[in-house]
Amino acid sequence: MQTPASFDYERATSVEGAIASLARLGPEARVIAGGHSLLPMMKLRLAQPEHLIDINDLEAELSYIRDEGGEIAIGALTRHVDLLKSELLAQHFPVFRDAEEVIADPVVRNRGTIGGSLCQADPAEDLSAVCTAVKAKAVIRGTDGQRVVPMDEFHVAPYMTAVNDGELLTEIRLPLFPGAGSAHEKVERRAGDWAIAAASAAVWVDRSTIHDVGIGLSAVGLTTVHLKRAEELLRGKPPSEELFQQAGQVASEDCSPMADGRGPVDYKRHLAGVLTKRALSRATARALKQEA
Ligand SMILES: Cc1cc2nc3c(=O)[nH]c(=O)nc-3n(C[C@H](O)[C@H](O)[C@H](O)COP(=O)(O)OP(=O)(O)OC[C@H]3O[C@@H](n4cnc5c(N)ncnc54)[C@H](O)[C@@H]3O)c2cc1C
Repeated sequence: MQTPASFDYERATSVEGAIASLARLGPEARVIAGGHSLLPMMKLRLAQPEHLIDINDLEAELSYIRDEGGEIAIGALTRHVDLLKSELLAQHFPVFRDAEEVIADPVVRNRGTIGGSLCQADPAEDLSAVCTAVKAKAVIRGTDGQRVVPMDEFHVAPYMTAVNDGELLTEIRLPLFPGAGSAHEKVERRAGDWAIAAASAAVWVDRSTIHDVGIGLSAVGLTTVHLKRAEELLRGKPPSEELFQQAGQVASEDCSPMADGRGPVDYKRHLAGVLTKRALSRATARALKQEA
């Protein structure tokens, strides 16, 4: 049987209190949200925090999806199931529903949170690719106040983020611009499994031209892969299947998968290309109101 090392446990009663505890306890303290990533790591002794700060009583402060005019704000403790069911998100960023439909199973989705997913920073995690594609920003709070970090600066290394000791991820902000469409495409070995590869794309179309675009890939690099070169290729051009094929080719070249039980490198590169093309096609069809 796997058992974690012993640890102290505290239920936070406010965001301020959680941050104060994290600051006081230092690097040996960890936040626990849904626990679906942290607890398995503790049982395997891959993580051995001395103190756990449980934020599950902070739903009033940290669980919400709301339109703040100009952007959608998502609280860090918002569960996968709430992202899946949100009509507001489905209206503006259907990529979230696409991804949530294929993340794990209802047991995980009922407890796991967007904050835990992004802070775990597993390179195969789906929501990091989604947030990269839609150009999300992360709000990080500490005792000295808060800072807002773009996704490119959020994931600093595998399983490492810009959230420092003594800090809490509190919110994810999604900027709203007209002409948006988005989609997530994933290939997994069986329903509910982690991705062999996945691609998220968001496009913003203005007068039949791709005004802006974001593309993120899961499971084909040491961290979430942000396809900047493919974005450059697409920006300012009229959307077409041929153009998306070229972007897919760039995706295959610019990712860096590793061979493992999910497949060899060439297969994963091939998938990255195909899924990027599919995600771009679907995102554009949604932007042009040709697909729901
Ligand atoms: C069987 C199974 C299958 C899964 N399949 C998939 C999948 O297909 N795709 C996918 O994307 N994910 C998958 N997951 C992961 C799932 O999405 C988890 O919910 C997620 O990784 C972690 O969320 P959590 O709230 O449980 O985080 P926790 O386990 O509570 O925390 C994870 C890490 O984030 C930190 N943390 C949590 N919240 C905060 C915060 N607000 N501020 C700072 N640090 C914080 C914790 O200290 C910890 O280090 C799967 C998980 C399981 C168990």
